[in-house]
Amino acid sequence: MLAKPTKGVTEILDKFQESELTCEYKYDGERAQIHYMEDGSVQIYGRNTQPITGKYPDVVSSVSRFKKPSVKSFVLDCEVVAYDRGKQKILPFQILSTRARKGVLLSDINVQVCIFAFDILYLNGQPLLQEQLKVRREHLYDSFEELPGTFQFATAIISSSLEEIHKFFEASVNDSCEGLIIKKLIRDATYEPSKRSLNWLKLKKDYMDSIGDSLDLVPIAAFHGRGERSGVYGAFLLACYDEKNEEYQSICIIGTRFSEHMLEERSASLCDKPYYRCGDAVNPDVWFEPREVWEVKAADLSISSVHCAACGIVDPKKGISLRFPRFLRVREDKAPDEATTSEQVAEMYRSQKINHANNQEDKEDD
Ligand code: ATP
Repeated sequence: MLAKPTKGVTEILDKFQESELTCEYKYDGERAQIHYMEDGSVQIYGRNTQPITGKYPDVVSSVSRFKKPSVKSFVLDCEVVAYDRGKQKILPFQILSTRARKGVLLSDINVQVCIFAFDILYLNGQPLLQEQLKVRREHLYDSFEELPGTFQFATAIISSSLEEIHKFFEASVNDSCEGLIIKKLIRDATYEPSKRSLNWLKLKKDYMDSIGDSLDLVPIAAFHGRGERSGVYGAFLLACYDEKNEEYQSICIIGTRFSEHMLEERSASLCDKPYYRCGDAVNPDVWFEPREVWEVKAADLSISSVHCAACGIVDPKKGISLRFPRFLRVREDKAPDEATTSEQVAEMYRSQKINHANNQEDKEDD
């Protein structure tokens, strides 16, 4: 199950009117679904149900310590986060990503992790998907024992008060989290595997200072570098994915904040092929096959006569482009056709307009 991005607390409360809500810290680590079988074996799966057991032998070996003796089988939904046990502090995602992806030996581990459990989908032979979150959470709390720094329940509050949610949001950011995930507790609060559900809304810290959610974009072409960057690509053309036409649509050119190493790596790893929707004014030197997904943050979305993202959705002829795009990381867990869609780009553009209009009203009220 995945979460819908939102713009702010008010939008959340509007969407969730009269529902009982809970807010949980949104941890920035790796999604891990821990399966414990009756024969005592443990398997761990990642965001796309890929096996990641070999990456976390420490998680496997801790299961018998955090499950209560009455528990014979379970499926837990968790986020595994790099953790400094001495300082009792969550460490950034980048530290976690230094761990090898498989074949990790307990004796070789130097990045400790803490498991933050937020849901339980199966317990002692019974599926819990159809239960409301409130009930699932009771099972979760009743069936496991917290081991500080090794296994903890996701920090949560139950509240519909704007002020309380705001405070909790700030606490989450101070505790090195990405923000909050806000979930319905009862009524329409069943677990919906692999869906981006409206029952979960995310409120991330970067929503406060720019367009909010980052975009996952596909590099489709590049421009040769000049000066010091000659010999490697100096800038990349990025695209979102249009599900309707099954095509990639250009959305921005990104050139800053790349290390020389990163540029070299990309220069070697991508290869040619053009079949994308992109304005005539953009003349890249090389086209790539869609291979990678890059997470990018921007300050603003605007209507563009150069780029073609969401063309025909918001404006009949023009597309949408990103202003001040900034590279965050390569999304190794996403395939190119799982990139941000043109519908999502259009939705982000529209809610930015609504937000601007609201801000304008606020200013006029002041
Ligand atoms: P996107 O898919 O939009 O790039 P994402 O991969 O962070 O973003 P989201 O839908 O935003 O996915 O959020 C769901 C992810 O957040 C989960 O896959 C999980 O890894 C992580 N997460 C961290 N804390 C929680 C929590 N308390 N409840 C649910 N998911 C959480």
